[in-house]
Amino acid sequence: KHANVSTAKTQPRYNMKLPDMDDGVVTRFPPEPSGYLHIGHAKAAFLNDYFAHDATSGSLILRFDDTNPRKEKKEFEESIIHDLGLLGISPQKVTYTSDYFARLYELCQKLISSGKAYAEDTDPRIQALDRRDRLPSKCRDRPASESLAIFAEMRDGTALGKKHCIRARITYDSSNGALRDPIIYRFPNWGTGETPQPHHRTGWAWQIYPTYDFACPLVDSIEGVTHALRTTEYSDRNDQYCWFLEALGLRRVHLWDFARIGFIRTFLSKRKLLQVVETGRVDGWDDPRMPTVRGILRRGLTVDALRQFMLEQGPSRNLVFMDWTILWSVNKKIIDPVAPRHTAVMSKNAALVTITGGPDTSQKELRPKHPKNPAIGMKTLTFASEIYIDQCDATRIHKDEEITLMGWGNALIRAITISNDGTITALQCQLHLDGDVSKTDKKIHWLAAQDSDLGQAELWEFDHLLLKDKLEKTDQLDTFLNPVTSKMEQAMVDADCAELAEGAIIQLERKGYFRVDKATGQGPEGKMVMFKIPTGGKS
Ligand code: ATP
Ligand code: MG
Ligand code: MG
Repeated sequence: KHANVSTAKTQPRYNMKLPDMDDGVVTRFPPEPSGYLHIGHAKAAFLNDYFAHDATSGSLILRFDDTNPRKEKKEFEESIIHDLGLLGISPQKVTYTSDYFARLYELCQKLISSGKAYAEDTDPRIQALDRRDRLPSKCRDRPASESLAIFAEMRDGTALGKKHCIRARITYDSSNGALRDPIIYRFPNWGTGETPQPHHRTGWAWQIYPTYDFACPLVDSIEGVTHALRTTEYSDRNDQYCWFLEALGLRRVHLWDFARIGFIRTFLSKRKLLQVVETGRVDGWDDPRMPTVRGILRRGLTVDALRQFMLEQGPSRNLVFMDWTILWSVNKKIIDPVAPRHTAVMSKNAALVTITGGPDTSQKELRPKHPKNPAIGMKTLTFASEIYIDQCDATRIHKDEEITLMGWGNALIRAITISNDGTITALQCQLHLDGDVSKTDKKIHWLAAQDSDLGQAELWEFDHLLLKDKLEKTDQLDTFLNPVTSKMEQAMVDADCAELAEGAIIQLERKGYFRVDKATGQGPEGKMVMFKIPTGGKS
């Protein structure tokens, strides 16, 4: 038994370069442990992995950006490590922003002492308006000693402390809003009034937390990151990032912006993904309709295809909104040369064909599993005097027509039995093995009806979760959820399918590519379960 999904990395043949790449590269992938990895995260993870491990022999840090106790969980951390493994990405180190809380606190004290940050108790709404109108905060010139004392009260969670946040003293009237005295330390519920929650790693040790804007550059620098890859919506914050390092005399880090990726008829927001999981619209985070790493791999996307696709997007900085068909067609090119060919006939109204001029009892022959790739091995073809064909093929056949039975030869249709409702129940045909298979229009797949080893399978096909190409910020998710996103049909499958392990990718002749989700014996009533793999074309 084997799963034929290759995890071998594609050779680096991309030509992406970072400044000062020759002096050594340390990159980091910084997910917030607040959900499962999705296809957008995969882009960031592959790019960081590429620069650390393919373009150079540097190192990759997986850093959990855990500065928001309200959303983060250990379950998500474990799933992220696992899913990076699925993608073939092995970080040299796993770190946590929370490991640096004490250090970040000290660095904030240092910033305050040098007059580069201050404590403020302006109402959050007014603060936002002032920032918009480029007005200085009334607390901007507060003496450092006073701000330091308030910062200590914030740390202790006193009533006075709780009214405050800390802002960097950069500028209040820059045309770049990110430079207008950004908040660097706050209570997570500052301005929201929500009940505070313990941090999943540090518990109640800290009540105040550094903001992402403050923590990210500092931890990057402290951890030895040489190149920080960030999605372009952070570009406006690049100057701010550099300001923090400079203000604290920390080693500088190269910033490299890349475009966030989005897909048609797909939502990637963790909140929305959680919503479809929790309302039972899908069966879980690994449902094959989910754009999570687990979901898309389960649907039959190979890691090689995903990696190749993402690295080809690499240097572009324009927002990329992709059609799934491109990704699936990259995948098809990878699976087609290796997917063994098998046969399935739909159970519903399968038409029984009686053959004359053939074997009386069933005979077996070995045939290659792949027409062009002998390395894939051999399968058994069973010939018999009664075979099944798909109803949809049976209805297209005419009396006295010459057809080709795939892998066998030609046959002449002698009689067709049609039931009252128009279903073809039986056909009789006479083998005509001298007939020229290149002259027939209809090449039909079939299965020996007497083959006691025939398997049973559920064949599933899935559709997008969304009815709309692109969900706008104001769109309610419920309104645009596709009511029907899966279809299942029962099929009989050839005896060799019993050998297929979960994860195997095959082609069912004339039906398309499928991934085995449950091997023989593992699905409902012991049936196999197979998921149809999109190919990007009409199929
Ligand atoms: P979400 O909206 O799902 O919470 P996020 O950006 O907040 O997304 P993080 O866990 O902070 O999620 O992301 C980890 C890394 O993945 C970041 O470097 C982020 O820029 C990157 N990333 C997230 N979504 C995408 C995307 N759609 N395309 C490319 N990179 C992404
Ligand atoms: Mg984030
Ligand atoms: Mg987010």
